[in-house]
Amino acid sequence: MKKIAILGSTGSIGTQTLEIVREQKDIEVLGLAAANNIALLEKQIREFMPKIVAVWTEEKAKELRDKVTDLNVKVVSGMEGLLEVSVIPEMEILVTAVVGMIGIRPTIAAIKAKKKIALANKETLVTAGHIIMPLAKEYGVPILPVDSEHSAIFQSLQGGQEKALHKILLTASGGPFRGRKRKELQNIQVEDALKHPNWEMGRKITIDSSTMVNKGLEVIEAKWLFDVTVDQIQVVVQPKSIIHSMVEYVDGAVIAQLGTPDMKLPIQYALYYPERRYLPGERLDFCKLTEITFEEPDMETFYGLRLAFEAGREGGSLPTVFNAANERAVQKFLDRKIRYLEIPEIIETCMRNHENILHPSVEEILETEREVYEQIESRW
Ligand code: MG
Repeated sequence: MKKIAILGSTGSIGTQTLEIVREQKDIEVLGLAAANNIALLEKQIREFMPKIVAVWTEEKAKELRDKVTDLNVKVVSGMEGLLEVSVIPEMEILVTAVVGMIGIRPTIAAIKAKKKIALANKETLVTAGHIIMPLAKEYGVPILPVDSEHSAIFQSLQGGQEKALHKILLTASGGPFRGRKRKELQNIQVEDALKHPNWEMGRKITIDSSTMVNKGLEVIEAKWLFDVTVDQIQVVVQPKSIIHSMVEYVDGAVIAQLGTPDMKLPIQYALYYPERRYLPGERLDFCKLTEITFEEPDMETFYGLRLAFEAGREGGSLPTVFNAANERAVQKFLDRKIRYLEIPEIIETCMRNHENILHPSVEEILETEREVYEQIESRW
């Protein structure tokens, strides 16, 4: 039995991870953590019988404890609770699928406890890649990417020589507003931005896909995961999400991973790596597919992507500013407090106002996040 714990078990990646657990029957779930979906968490506890479950507030923890008094499960709360789930002694793989920088400390704790990391939490590498990657190397812990593009790159690198990697071709669907210009995006409403053509994901990441900020975060994430510069990463728009990403070697050979858009493939690959397991579901039929088209990304309209390249190139605390400003701006857009086009405007303003810290500590990263939030609250 493989023993895992999942941070963010009620979200999109978390629930799909549990579907794999249900199908494969040889994974034991020792720990779960979620923010506040107590009803779903209770169901998950009853089905998967974890030992420890963390929720964010003590109030919610109490609510959950009252529901599961008949079970032998420990319910904990806060960052301390999250850390406890991250280092459960017999656990082998920690699936980090929380949203936000809240994932940094648990990831660090898990690496130090020599747990493999199945990483679906972009913000951890975007903001603290300079801390996480050397630490993982020091402790000999693999960071297994769960994001579909990064999994595709990781898969394409299997059997290749790392030093022969020339370039990463990060594919993007272009989102629901591909082909539109800035003035056509002025009146975009929350409902329009929440319609993604190919992938079913959480609300925040769906908005991020529509602005291409998600691709920007992935560029910075890829830089850390695969030890390349952002200028070795090229974003290629491929609207149907058939090619999940590619690598180009020094001799010009391009290796890609293709498949139908199904997040279960990258999740399962990370859980069983290097083993491949049968996965039910729709397969690619190349005779029906007939064509795969490519475009250059429009970094003028979707200039959040351009700002991400800038943040990734500069490094330091600037990627934290990029990420935190976007996170808060997207929340404000979802709450209908700002217009759609204000999202990249807010990111850019916060980046211009920031004095970059070159090798920020975790404390400095979190302090930078707080400062960005305060700035946004006082201005928008
Ligand atoms: Mg992705």
